[in-house]
Amino acid sequence: MWKILHQIARTGVVTETPPALAEPVQAESGRIQAELLAILGQALAIRQVDAGSCNACELEIHALNNPYYNIEGLGIKFVASPRHADLLLVTGPVSRHMKEALLRTYEATPEPRLVLAVGDCGCDGGIFGEGHASCGRVANVIPVDLAMAGCPPAPIDILRGILAVVRRQAAGSQPQGTPAAPARRASTD
Ligand code: SF4
Repeated sequence: MWKILHQIARTGVVTETPPALAEPVQAESGRIQAELLAILGQALAIRQVDAGSCNACELEIHALNNPYYNIEGLGIKFVASPRHADLLLVTGPVSRHMKEALLRTYEATPEPRLVLAVGDCGCDGGIFGEGHASCGRVANVIPVDLAMAGCPPAPIDILRGILAVVRRQAAGSQPQGTPAAPARRASTD
């Protein structure tokens, strides 16, 4: 035990010095949360669905929870079940294997459910496009309220997208790219 403590004291901190906090980003995060609370009257619960991404979009989404962005500290939280969610955050082109899971998740989310497609792949299929293994953009499978471009989008852009989708819903706009019929019923594969 003493050997370990001695080693820790002798080695010191070897990691890089963290960058100075970007006050504008933190201030904007705070403003976004305040506006979300003003619109919704409650905290926002998000269910994230990786429908087939390369995981870089997930890394940016994970960054929202770090001490720098601290969105849980601001009241926005990620939940494990779509039944507890206000908003679905969906990444990736929708792989054929995730299509059914995404449809079930959408149907399990209570109304009024919001959907934000994240990343170029979520917007239009991105570098994966559409093919035998990919359904392409998220809106090809479920109704999408807003699509946030970027490969991957930065955490603050994702936060801006969350606010934009909530604003649009408050203004009563219709989802973008809604399938002509309920996607699950129309599906044949
Ligand atoms: S948008 Fe870019 S980072 Fe996100 S899943 Fe697609 S390829 Fe990966």
